[in-house]
Amino acid sequence: MYIYSTKDVELYTCIMANAQVGVRFIENSRGSQTLVHNEYLFSLKTRRGDRSYWNCVNRDCTAKINTRNGIPTKIMVNHNHPQDPVGVTAKQMMSNIRKRVRDTIEPIPAIYDDMLATLRTPEWDEDTEAVAIKLPTFYSARPALYR
Ligand SMILES: [Zn+2]
Repeated sequence: MYIYSTKDVELYTCIMANAQVGVRFIENSRGSQTLVHNEYLFSLKTRRGDRSYWNCVNRDCTAKINTRNGIPTKIMVNHNHPQDPVGVTAKQMMSNIRKRVRDTIEPIPAIYDDMLATLRTPEWDEDTEAVAIKLPTFYSARPALYR
């Protein structure tokens, strides 16, 4: 029989609750986060205690999400623009690259090439190409990766 710590239970509850409402988080450089809801990106506007207030990254859009301890308490998403699955995928890939840079001793150019190679599959299509174009090149991404 497994004994879970309160923290494990809290984390699990948080992930399950977020999965139900289609919310997840992507880690940016410098440890900040981007909230993803239904293939839309939100950036953190303010944080007060355990409450965070997120705005759609599109400045002309009024969509907002409030979270408390990482769980949405209010989702007001009348977006006036289409979803951005390509932008979400590119952001996720950069986050994965940063994570691998941090957690392994592999040389950064090798990690970067390897991640780009995962895009070059037989299923390469217009969407894949759009993601590749959105990714910063190794040399422009390097300062952020070495941080
Ligand atoms: Zn929006």
